[in-house]
Amino acid sequence: MQYLADALANFQVQIRLVAIIFVIAMLIEALRPAQRRQPWRNVAFNIGYTAFIVLVNVLLLPPLLHFLQPLVQRHGLQIPIHFPDGLGWQALQALVFLFIHDFFYYWFHRAQHRFSFAWPLHKLHHADESVNVTTSLRHHWLEEPFRAWLILVPIGLIFDQKPVTIGWIATLLSLFGFFVHMNVRLSFGSGTWIFAGPQWHRLHHSIEPQHADRNFAAFFPIFDIAFGTYCKPGHDEYPATGLHSRENLNSPWRAVVSPFTDWARMFGKQAITQQQPGPVQQPPDQNGNAAANQDAR
Ligand SMILES: [Zn+2]
Ligand SMILES: [Zn+2]
Repeated sequence: MQYLADALANFQVQIRLVAIIFVIAMLIEALRPAQRRQPWRNVAFNIGYTAFIVLVNVLLLPPLLHFLQPLVQRHGLQIPIHFPDGLGWQALQALVFLFIHDFFYYWFHRAQHRFSFAWPLHKLHHADESVNVTTSLRHHWLEEPFRAWLILVPIGLIFDQKPVTIGWIATLLSLFGFFVHMNVRLSFGSGTWIFAGPQWHRLHHSIEPQHADRNFAAFFPIFDIAFGTYCKPGHDEYPATGLHSRENLNSPWRAVVSPFTDWARMFGKQAITQQQPGPVQQPPDQNGNAAANQDAR
Protein backbone atom coordinates (compact mmCIF):
# COMPACT_ATOMS: atom_id res chain seq x y z
CA MET A 1 0.00 0.00 0.00
CA GLN A 2 2.86 2.36 0.83
CA TYR A 3 4.29 1.63 -2.63
CA LEU A 4 1.02 2.71 -4.29
CA ALA A 5 0.70 5.80 -2.09
CA ASP A 6 4.29 6.84 -2.97
CA ALA A 7 3.67 6.19 -6.65
CA LEU A 8 0.49 8.27 -6.60
CA ALA A 9 2.21 11.15 -4.78
CA ASN A 10 5.08 10.95 -7.27
CA PHE A 11 2.59 10.95 -10.15
CA GLN A 12 0.87 14.09 -8.89
CA VAL A 13 4.16 15.97 -8.59
CA GLN A 14 5.43 14.87 -12.00
CA ILE A 15 2.19 15.49 -13.86
CA ARG A 16 2.00 19.04 -12.46
CA LEU A 17 5.57 19.73 -13.57
CA VAL A 18 4.89 18.31 -17.03
CA ALA A 19 1.71 20.42 -17.30
CA ILE A 20 3.66 23.59 -16.46
CA ILE A 21 6.38 22.73 -18.99
CA PHE A 22 3.75 21.97 -21.68
CA VAL A 23 1.97 25.29 -21.15
CA ILE A 24 5.18 27.38 -21.23
CA ALA A 25 6.56 25.49 -24.25
CA MET A 26 3.25 25.73 -26.15
CA LEU A 27 3.18 29.50 -25.66
CA ILE A 28 6.71 29.72 -27.10
CA GLU A 29 5.75 27.36 -29.95
CA ALA A 30 2.80 29.60 -30.85
CA LEU A 31 5.19 32.51 -31.44
CA ARG A 32 7.43 30.85 -34.06
CA PRO A 33 6.06 27.42 -35.04
CA ALA A 34 8.10 25.18 -37.35
CA GLN A 35 4.87 23.50 -38.49
CA ARG A 36 1.71 25.59 -38.49
CA ARG A 37 -1.82 24.39 -37.64
CA GLN A 38 -0.95 21.08 -36.05
CA PRO A 39 -4.20 19.12 -35.53
CA TRP A 40 -5.48 19.43 -31.96
CA ARG A 41 -6.53 15.77 -31.94
CA ASN A 42 -2.84 14.79 -32.29
CA VAL A 43 -1.84 17.09 -29.45
CA ALA A 44 -4.75 15.86 -27.31
CA PHE A 45 -3.72 12.25 -27.90
CA ASN A 46 -0.13 13.02 -26.85
CA ILE A 47 -1.30 14.78 -23.69
CA GLY A 48 -3.50 11.83 -22.71
CA TYR A 49 -0.72 9.37 -23.52
CA THR A 50 1.74 11.45 -21.48
CA ALA A 51 -0.46 11.08 -18.38
CA PHE A 52 -0.53 7.32 -19.00
CA ILE A 53 3.24 7.01 -19.47
CA VAL A 54 4.02 9.12 -16.39
CA LEU A 55 1.74 6.82 -14.37
CA VAL A 56 3.39 3.68 -15.78
CA ASN A 57 6.87 5.07 -15.12
CA VAL A 58 6.15 5.93 -11.48
CA LEU A 59 4.77 2.42 -11.00
CA LEU A 60 7.48 0.47 -12.87
CA LEU A 61 10.73 2.39 -12.50
CA PRO A 62 11.19 2.70 -8.69
CA PRO A 63 10.99 -1.09 -8.08
CA LEU A 64 13.16 -1.76 -11.13
CA LEU A 65 15.85 0.72 -9.97
CA HIS A 66 15.57 -0.66 -6.43
CA PHE A 67 16.31 -4.10 -7.87
CA LEU A 68 19.15 -2.93 -10.14
CA GLN A 69 21.01 -0.68 -7.69
CA PRO A 70 22.46 -3.40 -5.41
CA LEU A 71 23.40 -5.53 -8.45
CA VAL A 72 25.29 -2.63 -9.95
CA GLN A 73 26.99 -1.76 -6.66
CA ARG A 74 28.00 -5.37 -5.99
CA HIS A 75 29.39 -6.17 -9.44
CA GLY A 76 30.42 -2.79 -10.84
CA LEU A 77 33.94 -1.57 -11.54
CA GLN A 78 33.05 1.59 -9.60
CA ILE A 79 35.51 3.79 -11.47
CA PRO A 80 35.13 7.05 -9.57
CA ILE A 81 34.70 10.35 -11.36
CA HIS A 82 34.39 12.60 -8.34
CA PHE A 83 34.73 16.30 -8.85
CA PRO A 84 35.07 18.65 -5.84
CA ASP A 85 31.94 19.96 -4.14
CA GLY A 86 30.51 23.26 -5.29
CA LEU A 87 27.93 24.19 -7.85
CA GLY A 88 30.30 24.77 -10.76
CA TRP A 89 32.22 21.51 -10.24
CA GLN A 90 29.02 19.52 -9.77
CA ALA A 91 27.56 20.99 -12.95
CA LEU A 92 30.77 20.01 -14.77
CA GLN A 93 30.58 16.51 -13.32
CA ALA A 94 26.99 16.21 -14.50
CA LEU A 95 28.14 17.32 -17.95
CA VAL A 96 30.82 14.60 -18.01
CA PHE A 97 28.29 11.93 -17.07
CA LEU A 98 25.84 13.35 -19.55
CA PHE A 99 28.50 12.87 -22.21
CA ILE A 100 29.01 9.26 -21.10
CA HIS A 101 25.24 8.72 -21.00
CA ASP A 102 24.91 10.14 -24.49
CA PHE A 103 27.48 7.66 -25.84
CA PHE A 104 25.39 4.74 -24.54
CA TYR A 105 22.14 6.42 -25.58
CA TYR A 106 23.48 6.96 -29.11
CA TRP A 107 24.11 3.24 -29.64
CA PHE A 108 20.88 2.19 -27.92
CA HIS A 109 18.91 4.58 -30.13
CA ARG A 110 20.78 3.57 -33.27
CA ALA A 111 20.07 -0.10 -32.50
CA GLN A 112 16.36 0.71 -32.14
CA HIS A 113 16.40 1.98 -35.72
CA ARG A 114 18.73 -0.67 -37.08
CA PHE A 115 17.20 -3.91 -35.83
CA SER A 116 13.75 -4.93 -36.98
CA PHE A 117 12.90 -6.57 -33.62
CA ALA A 118 13.78 -3.36 -31.71
CA TRP A 119 12.01 -0.91 -34.01
CA PRO A 120 8.38 -1.70 -32.95
CA LEU A 121 9.07 -0.32 -29.45
CA HIS A 122 10.40 2.96 -30.82
CA LYS A 123 7.87 3.35 -33.64
CA LEU A 124 5.25 5.08 -31.50
CA HIS A 125 7.61 7.98 -30.85
CA HIS A 126 8.26 8.41 -34.57
CA ALA A 127 4.64 8.00 -35.65
CA ASP A 128 3.83 11.55 -34.56
CA GLU A 129 3.11 13.71 -37.61
CA SER A 130 2.89 16.80 -35.41
CA VAL A 131 6.13 16.83 -33.46
CA ASN A 132 5.98 19.32 -30.60
CA VAL A 133 6.67 19.45 -26.87
CA THR A 134 3.90 16.89 -26.24
CA THR A 135 5.87 14.33 -28.32
CA SER A 136 8.66 14.24 -25.71
CA LEU A 137 7.17 11.48 -23.53
CA ARG A 138 5.37 9.69 -26.34
CA HIS A 139 7.42 6.53 -25.86
CA HIS A 140 6.11 3.01 -25.61
CA TRP A 141 5.67 2.00 -21.97
CA LEU A 142 8.31 -0.75 -22.30
CA GLU A 143 10.99 1.61 -23.63
CA GLU A 144 11.95 3.12 -20.28
CA PRO A 145 12.54 -0.26 -18.55
CA PHE A 146 14.67 -1.30 -21.54
CA ARG A 147 16.67 1.91 -21.27
CA ALA A 148 17.24 1.22 -17.58
CA TRP A 149 18.75 -2.17 -18.45
CA LEU A 150 20.66 -1.18 -21.55
CA ILE A 151 21.88 2.33 -20.66
CA LEU A 152 21.82 2.88 -16.88
CA VAL A 153 23.11 -0.59 -15.93
CA PRO A 154 26.22 -0.49 -18.18
CA ILE A 155 27.04 3.05 -17.00
CA GLY A 156 26.46 2.06 -13.37
CA LEU A 157 28.63 -1.04 -13.81
CA ILE A 158 31.55 1.01 -15.08
CA PHE A 159 31.38 4.31 -13.22
CA ASP A 160 30.64 5.47 -9.72
CA GLN A 161 28.55 8.61 -9.58
CA LYS A 162 27.41 10.72 -6.69
CA PRO A 163 23.65 10.75 -6.05
CA VAL A 164 23.66 14.51 -6.58
CA THR A 165 24.98 13.95 -10.11
CA ILE A 166 22.23 11.45 -10.86
CA GLY A 167 19.68 14.10 -9.85
CA TRP A 168 21.27 16.66 -12.14
CA ILE A 169 21.40 14.22 -15.04
CA ALA A 170 17.80 13.08 -14.65
CA THR A 171 16.61 16.70 -14.55
CA LEU A 172 18.73 17.79 -17.52
CA LEU A 173 17.70 14.75 -19.57
CA SER A 174 14.02 15.41 -18.98
CA LEU A 175 14.18 19.13 -19.64
CA PHE A 176 16.29 18.68 -22.76
CA GLY A 177 13.88 16.06 -24.06
CA PHE A 178 11.08 18.62 -23.90
CA PHE A 179 13.26 21.27 -25.53
CA VAL A 180 14.43 19.28 -28.57
CA HIS A 181 10.88 18.27 -29.49
CA MET A 182 9.49 21.78 -29.49
CA ASN A 183 7.69 22.84 -32.64
CA VAL A 184 9.67 26.02 -32.97
CA ARG A 185 11.82 27.70 -35.59
CA LEU A 186 15.07 27.81 -33.72
CA SER A 187 18.34 27.26 -35.52
CA PHE A 188 21.70 26.95 -33.79
CA GLY A 189 23.42 27.89 -37.06
CA SER A 190 27.15 27.18 -37.02
CA GLY A 191 26.81 25.88 -33.43
CA THR A 192 24.50 23.02 -34.51
CA TRP A 193 27.24 20.45 -33.92
CA ILE A 194 27.73 21.47 -30.25
CA PHE A 195 24.30 20.78 -28.72
CA ALA A 196 21.16 19.10 -30.03
CA GLY A 197 18.29 21.48 -30.70
CA PRO A 198 14.70 21.37 -32.00
CA GLN A 199 15.70 21.82 -35.64
CA TRP A 200 18.44 19.19 -35.47
CA HIS A 201 16.19 16.62 -33.74
CA ARG A 202 13.33 17.41 -36.13
CA LEU A 203 15.46 15.95 -38.90
CA HIS A 204 15.60 12.71 -36.90
CA HIS A 205 11.77 12.62 -37.04
CA SER A 206 11.64 13.66 -40.71
CA ILE A 207 9.81 11.63 -43.36
CA GLU A 208 12.31 12.76 -46.02
CA PRO A 209 14.45 9.81 -47.21
CA GLN A 210 17.70 11.81 -46.97
CA HIS A 211 17.13 12.24 -43.21
CA ALA A 212 16.46 8.57 -42.45
CA ASP A 213 18.59 7.14 -39.62
CA ARG A 214 20.36 10.40 -38.86
CA ASN A 215 20.94 12.48 -35.69
CA PHE A 216 20.63 9.84 -32.96
CA ALA A 217 22.31 11.60 -30.04
CA ALA A 218 20.21 13.16 -27.30
CA PHE A 219 22.60 15.96 -26.34
CA PHE A 220 25.86 15.93 -28.25
CA PRO A 221 25.75 15.74 -32.08
CA ILE A 222 29.49 15.04 -31.90
CA PHE A 223 28.60 11.33 -31.57
CA ASP A 224 26.72 11.45 -34.87
CA ILE A 225 29.68 13.23 -36.45
CA ALA A 226 32.09 10.61 -35.05
CA PHE A 227 30.00 7.62 -36.16
CA GLY A 228 28.84 8.95 -39.53
CA THR A 229 25.15 9.70 -38.92
CA TYR A 230 25.25 13.48 -38.61
CA CYS A 231 22.92 15.55 -40.78
CA LYS A 232 23.10 19.31 -40.49
CA PRO A 233 19.79 21.05 -41.13
CA GLY A 234 19.78 23.43 -44.06
CA HIS A 235 18.84 27.05 -43.61
CA ASP A 236 15.16 27.23 -42.66
CA GLU A 237 14.79 23.44 -43.07
CA TYR A 238 11.89 22.10 -40.98
CA PRO A 239 10.64 18.92 -42.71
CA ALA A 240 7.35 17.11 -42.16
CA THR A 241 7.54 14.33 -39.59
CA GLY A 242 6.11 10.83 -39.12
CA LEU A 243 6.62 7.30 -40.38
CA HIS A 244 7.43 6.59 -44.02
CA SER A 245 4.54 4.12 -43.99
CA ARG A 246 2.22 6.89 -42.60
CA GLU A 247 0.92 4.32 -40.12
CA ASN A 248 -1.34 5.98 -37.57
CA LEU A 249 -0.80 4.86 -33.97
CA ASN A 250 -2.90 7.61 -32.37
CA SER A 251 -5.26 5.39 -30.47
CA PRO A 252 -4.77 4.15 -26.92
CA TRP A 253 -5.09 0.51 -28.03
CA ARG A 254 -2.65 0.76 -30.95
CA ALA A 255 -0.16 2.79 -28.90
CA VAL A 256 -0.05 0.16 -26.16
CA VAL A 257 -0.20 -3.09 -28.14
CA SER A 258 1.28 -2.27 -31.58
CA PRO A 259 4.78 -3.70 -30.75
CA PHE A 260 3.19 -7.02 -29.77
CA THR A 261 1.15 -7.25 -32.97
CA ASP A 262 4.26 -6.26 -34.98
CA TRP A 263 6.34 -8.94 -33.28
CA ALA A 264 3.61 -11.55 -33.77
CA ARG A 265 3.48 -10.68 -37.49
CA MET A 266 7.28 -10.65 -37.76
CA PHE A 267 7.81 -14.01 -36.04
CA GLY A 268 4.77 -15.49 -37.79
CA LYS A 269 6.31 -14.55 -41.15
CA GLN A 270 9.62 -16.00 -40.06
CA ALA A 271 7.96 -19.29 -39.06
CA ILE A 272 6.20 -19.52 -42.45
CA THR A 273 9.46 -18.67 -44.24
CA GLN A 274 11.29 -21.43 -42.41
CA GLN A 275 8.59 -23.94 -43.36
CA GLN A 276 8.52 -22.97 -47.05
CA PRO A 277 11.48 -23.85 -49.25
CA GLY A 278 12.52 -21.38 -51.92
CA PRO A 279 13.68 -17.79 -52.21
CA VAL A 280 11.09 -16.18 -49.92
CA GLN A 281 13.42 -14.18 -47.72
CA GLN A 282 14.63 -10.92 -49.24
CA PRO A 283 18.29 -9.99 -48.97
CA PRO A 284 19.29 -6.97 -46.88
CA ASP A 285 19.53 -3.66 -48.72
CA GLN A 286 22.78 -1.84 -49.44
CA ASN A 287 22.92 -0.50 -45.89
CA GLY A 288 22.45 -4.02 -44.54
CA ASN A 289 18.92 -3.25 -43.27
CA ALA A 290 16.51 -6.15 -43.04
CA ALA A 291 13.43 -6.04 -45.25
CA ALA A 292 11.09 -6.19 -42.23
CA ASN A 293 12.58 -2.97 -40.91
CA GLN A 294 11.88 -1.17 -44.19
CA ASP A 295 8.27 -2.32 -44.15
CA ALA A 296 7.75 -0.87 -40.71
CA ARG A 297 8.62 2.66 -41.72
ZN1 LIG B 1 14.52 7.55 -33.10
ZN1 LIG C 1 12.30 12.42 -30.61
